[in-house]
Amino acid sequence: MLKAVYEEDWGTGRPVTYSRSLTFVLTHDCPWHCAYCGFRTDHEGLLNDRQLESLLQEAASGGAREALLISGERPDSLHHIREALARRGFRDFLDFAIWVADRCAEAGLFPHGNFGRMTEAELRRIRSHFVSMGMMLENVHDHLGLAPEKKAAGRVAGIEAAGRAKIPFTSGILVGWGESQASRLDSLACLADLHSRHGHLQEILIQRYVPNPSSRWSMGLAPTLAEYREMMEKWRAWAPGVAIQIPPNLEPLWPKLLPWLDDLGGISWAKDEVNSTRPWDTVETYAGLCRRAGRELVERLPVYESHVSPEWLSDDWLKVAEKFQAEIPG
Ligand code: SF4
Repeated sequence: MLKAVYEEDWGTGRPVTYSRSLTFVLTHDCPWHCAYCGFRTDHEGLLNDRQLESLLQEAASGGAREALLISGERPDSLHHIREALARRGFRDFLDFAIWVADRCAEAGLFPHGNFGRMTEAELRRIRSHFVSMGMMLENVHDHLGLAPEKKAAGRVAGIEAAGRAKIPFTSGILVGWGESQASRLDSLACLADLHSRHGHLQEILIQRYVPNPSSRWSMGLAPTLAEYREMMEKWRAWAPGVAIQIPPNLEPLWPKLLPWLDDLGGISWAKDEVNSTRPWDTVETYAGLCRRAGRELVERLPVYESHVSPEWLSDDWLKVAEKFQAEIPG
C-alpha cells in the first residue's frame, strides 16, 4: 500500500514520502516580471511536439510517475502565444494544457498541473485531465514587485475555488525572503481555514526562497529551526492529516526537520525548472539521510491516499491510482 500520513502517528518511525517526477514546462513565457522570478521568459513560445516526445521518453527511461505541468501565469494573454495556439489548433492555453496532460496520461504518467491562478470554471474544465493540481499561496500579505496575479486575495480565491471544484490540491508558503514569522503563521492559518471548509489540501509546502540569476530579490533570513518547528507544530494542530513538505534541494536544514516533516515533494534526476541553480541529490542519498533519522523514504503518487476516492477523482483516475497504489512497495 502507498504510505499514508497518519495524524495519530506523528514522529519518527513513520515513513517520509516523495514523488518521482519530471517537469514539463508548457511555456516559460509570462506577461509579468515578479521581482523574485527566475523562471519567466518573453518569447520562448510553447513546448513543441519534438520537445514533448523527448520529455515523454525521458520520463519513461527515468522511471517518473508524476508529470508536473507548469507555465507562466496566463500565457495566452500574450499575442504570440495566442497565435502559436491557433496555428496548432488549440482554442486557448487550457486546451493545450489538457492535450499535454492527456499525452502524459497515455504514457502512464500522473499529471499534476500548476498554471497559477485560475477561476472555478477553468478548474472544473480541466479537472478530469489531472490527478491533482496546485498553487502556492506564498504569503497572505501582499508585497511590492509581484504580478497582480500574485495578490493574496486572488490566490486565496483560487485555492478556495479548487476546493469547491473538488480537486486534490497542493499549496504552501514561501519563506526566507524577508517575511516575519507572524506573517508565515498568518499564511498557514489562512490555508488551514481554506482546508477546513473544503478538505482539498493534501499537502502544504514550506518552501525556502532561493534567488536565481534573474531574481531581483536577494535571499532573506531563513526561518530558524525553532521557527520551523513552531510552524510545523501549529500546522499539525490546525490541519491534522495534511502533509508538510520541505523541498530538500532548497532547504539545507531539511534533515534536522525530519522529526516534523512528512514529505520531500517531487524529486527528479532532471533540472529543477523553477530553481535551476538547485539540482536534487539522488533518491538514494535522501533515503540514506532519512534512514539515519529512523525513517524510511517511500514513493507516493501526486495524489495522496487520502484523496484517492470517488469524491476527488474521476472513475478513470480512481482505477489507475488504485492500481498503482497496490503496486508501490511499502
Ligand atoms: S513568478 Fe510567475 S507570474 Fe511572476 S513573473 Fe514568474 S512566472 Fe510570471
